[in-house]
Amino acid sequence: MKLKTLEISGFKSFADKTVIDFMPGMTGIVGPNGSGKSNIIEAIRWVMGEQSAKDLRGNKMSDVIFAGTKKRRALNRAEVAITFDNSDHYVKSDYTEIRITRRLYRTGESVYQLNGSDCRLRDIHELFMDTGLGREGFSIISQGRVESIFNAKPEDRRGIIEEVAGVYKYKQNKHKAQQDLAQTQLNLDRLYDIITEVQ
Ligand code: ATP
Repeated sequence: MKLKTLEISGFKSFADKTVIDFMPGMTGIVGPNGSGKSNIIEAIRWVMGEQSAKDLRGNKMSDVIFAGTKKRRALNRAEVAITFDNSDHYVKSDYTEIRITRRLYRTGESVYQLNGSDCRLRDIHELFMDTGLGREGFSIISQGRVESIFNAKPEDRRGIIEEVAGVYKYKQNKHKAQQDLAQTQLNLDRLYDIITEVQ
């Protein structure tokens, strides 16, 4: 799977629609201080479902919307779309191209889309779970993250290894199955009580 295109519009310093094509051989983005390099990475994290405004260097989520400059009025909507070439079906989906879109309005209204159809954030999480690309994925290591991994508690570090190794998804499934089993046992107990009462 390859990152193909990133389209940014109204997100942070990118007031106008900006399209970045990740051509083969492209290895880096350079530019002067404050030109928006980190905003590009944040756009990727945001469209993949980042929920923490703080981790996007803001106080509230609407801070990602272009806030205006001396010459230009603020905008009311931020939109980012990311397209992956999935012709190798690395992400378990029939789609050979996966396009995720996230839109946020100042009113707070927010939309996620998967290949043009509205979807839930959860659908995106599930699609990318254990691929290393999800919200908590390790394809993006931001400044300070390396240090935090070194300083993490052993169980948190283990969680990182589990996510990378692809066992996290199975742990989640196991947890859900255990909850279902416990609920079923409660229902059975209740049933036995009723049977005993009736007999
Ligand atoms: P450096 O090399 O110093 O790390 P950078 O190229 O990574 O810089 P960014 O941190 O991505 O630059 O961009 C910072 C710029 O984005 C600042 O000029 C800031 O004012 C602008 N910016 C951030 N949020 C918004 C917003 N909501 N609206 C308008 N501009 C914004």
